[in-house]
Amino acid sequence: MIIAVDGPTASGKGTVARGLAEHFGLPHLDTGLLYRAVGRQVAINEGNPDDEADALAACDFAEALLEDDILRSEEVGGLASRASVHPAVREALFRRQRAFAERPGGAVLDGRDIGTVIAPDADVKLFITASVHERAKRRWLEMTGREIEIPLDEIEKDIVMRDERDITRKDAPLKAAPDALVIDTTSFDRDQAFETALEAVEKALKA
Ligand code: C5P
Repeated sequence: MIIAVDGPTASGKGTVARGLAEHFGLPHLDTGLLYRAVGRQVAINEGNPDDEADALAACDFAEALLEDDILRSEEVGGLASRASVHPAVREALFRRQRAFAERPGGAVLDGRDIGTVIAPDADVKLFITASVHERAKRRWLEMTGREIEIPLDEIEKDIVMRDERDITRKDAPLKAAPDALVIDTTSFDRDQAFETALEAVEKALKA
């Protein structure tokens, strides 16, 4: 069984995907982390994420980079968003994601284009969203928890910019697949978001 979980940054899709993976005993892939590793590797190479050749060269990142906490920073998120615009980068990361989706027992993948490009054949597709303000607040709380000081309005501006880039890019833009179940988590806490998603998945599997 393949479960595709898409949505914008800080929408709660990671929490939902991890929870579903645990519930169904499936492996989980956070595909954003792959793009973040590319963004970080471009910086290590002193390259330019807007340059397709530089971004493609960074797809060769070392596996250990995926464990680096720095990938979770806003700065790396921005670099990832810029690098992910290039079709060559998306193609370079496609096989790895598709292979994960094709694991014999199934898998849960979260990202931007799982239901549309990586696994259009997924058994269940969720699109998790929330208001920009709520997402900025969540990111701010997460940063504060990690003792990183950053003003809320700066995070909000960054999220608006990142959404805009992810939605308007030509190749695999962020959008709900026509057959995705859309869940707005603006007024939900983590548990409510997971419970709502689980109910939606169980209902879809029975249908
Ligand atoms: O989800 P996360 O914020 O970690 O993703 C970082 C960036 O990677 C996103 O802003 C998006 O541009 C890109 N991304 C993507 N396709 C995916 C996952 C992430 O383009 N499947």
